[in-house]
Amino acid sequence: MINRGLGDWIHRRRVKSAGRIALVSAAGELTYDQLDERINRLASALADRGIGQGDRVAYLGENYPSFLETLFATTALGAVFVPLNTRLAPPEVGFQLNDSGSTVLIASTTLAPLALAAARKTPVQTLALVDDGPAAALEPADGDLQPMDFEELLASGAAVHPDVQIGLDDLAVILYTSGTTGNPKGAMLTHGNLTWNALNVITDFDYTSKDVSLMIAPMFHVAALGMGVLPTLLKGATVVLEPKFEPGRVLHLIEKHRATGISGVPTTYQMLAEHPDWDSTDLSSLRNLTCGGSAVPLRVLDIYEQRGLSFTMGYGMTETSPGATTLPGRYSRDKQGSGGLPHFHTEVRVVDPLNEVLPAGEVGEIQVQGPNVIASYWNREEANQSSFVHAEDGVWLKTGDMGYFDEDGFLFISDRIKDMIISGGENIYPAQVEQEIAQLDAVAAVAVFGVEDEKWGEVPRAAIVIRDGHELTEAQVLEHLQGRLARYKIPKSVIFVEEMPRTASGKIRKPDLRKQYGTV
Ligand code: ATP
Ligand code: MG
Repeated sequence: MINRGLGDWIHRRRVKSAGRIALVSAAGELTYDQLDERINRLASALADRGIGQGDRVAYLGENYPSFLETLFATTALGAVFVPLNTRLAPPEVGFQLNDSGSTVLIASTTLAPLALAAARKTPVQTLALVDDGPAAALEPADGDLQPMDFEELLASGAAVHPDVQIGLDDLAVILYTSGTTGNPKGAMLTHGNLTWNALNVITDFDYTSKDVSLMIAPMFHVAALGMGVLPTLLKGATVVLEPKFEPGRVLHLIEKHRATGISGVPTTYQMLAEHPDWDSTDLSSLRNLTCGGSAVPLRVLDIYEQRGLSFTMGYGMTETSPGATTLPGRYSRDKQGSGGLPHFHTEVRVVDPLNEVLPAGEVGEIQVQGPNVIASYWNREEANQSSFVHAEDGVWLKTGDMGYFDEDGFLFISDRIKDMIISGGENIYPAQVEQEIAQLDAVAAVAVFGVEDEKWGEVPRAAIVIRDGHELTEAQVLEHLQGRLARYKIPKSVIFVEEMPRTASGKIRKPDLRKQYGTV
């Protein structure tokens, strides 16, 4: 076995890309040589503390170089990197530390209180803090860990690259799913999964060694890590790290670093275009704008097209590391709303409940196969049994999403199976109803879900958060939907709520809505 793992990427780049800038952050620039030296020191320091093949090392922090240093040092040792979402509550972080069995936690000082509280009653033995500003006052309890300084930890290690044999099927990262449909599950991403996803992205997005990727989406999300950072570094290009999204600063950074790529969600792009500096910012370096989550509204497409820019949309999930399909920019208008075409080395099919492939135009479950798709979840026997189809032509991941291919082979995502409402034998995809309701100016957020009904089995109900300073009544919502949607799809009731229950990645938790507002 040879070392072909992630942990070797920067080390190989040290010679191939000598002198080139790997990372830019508020702390300055790091060339591939400098980054390699830091990774090697950290790896040695972690090895000195007993970390080796298969051990788990967690990271809780924003987009700082230490995130990537920990990722590469850990995986160079054959150990497993566990990135944590900084918006989780202490018990949620605690759950992921326990479930993964992480023994080292690296966190930023501003998150020290969260890290300290979460690490209680977990296997964490070492807590290292990355200085990113003043920490809130710590309230240590008896038996709490004594945090150490990340830079001191790193400096204590020898600058020697670990000599560890790693195969493509070895585990590299445990990344928790968003927990939109239940408890988050640890997706077991191997070195091979992440490498193949990076190759898919490089192939489909034409990444080159001259690219400059501005990372404004948090790297603990698989989208930023898999679609932005890893492909850029595999190519020996430059990553600019930004810990917070502040539109004016992002525009400034695009111009300053001549960024070629950024990634975000539709709101990110809308906020950039609404900023007073939009018109005066030189955007001529940009060529790769990726957008996930939901379709870019035509209004926003127009604004960017006037500047010669188009968006690459994508559909994916933690389990596919994360790219499944992608919509090239030139189709963003003609195929608006589509998730696009399967990635170059990935297969996607749409099947009926018996796993028979459906013809174009028919809605069924989306299933994915390819070297970027995980083989199992960490500690989840039940999910491992129920999430994969072992067919003659290989293993397919059941995504739990419904969708269809159009005649040209473009995938359209309807909704999650678990969220689908069956009313009087008809399928209702809440996402479609939500899109119609969201067109009302007064709507800040909307979620449609099923409530029990004696006659129809289930009927749709809409929960709406009203935008500040606006007014909206149930009658106005229902009137807006008349003629736009089939009668059975129109919610039987509309409720107005203060806020939506959301996951740490900002997705609406439908199970919570059903629990709270599901009965009449
Ligand atoms: P959990 O699996 O824990 O319930 P989750 O599925 O939300 O949470 P992620 O892996 O972060 O966790 O999200 C992947 C899901 O996001 C997909 O399965 C799909 O439902 C949704 N999704 C991703 N891209 C798109 C897209 N372009 N359009 C519509 N939905 C999308
Ligand atoms: Mg999921």
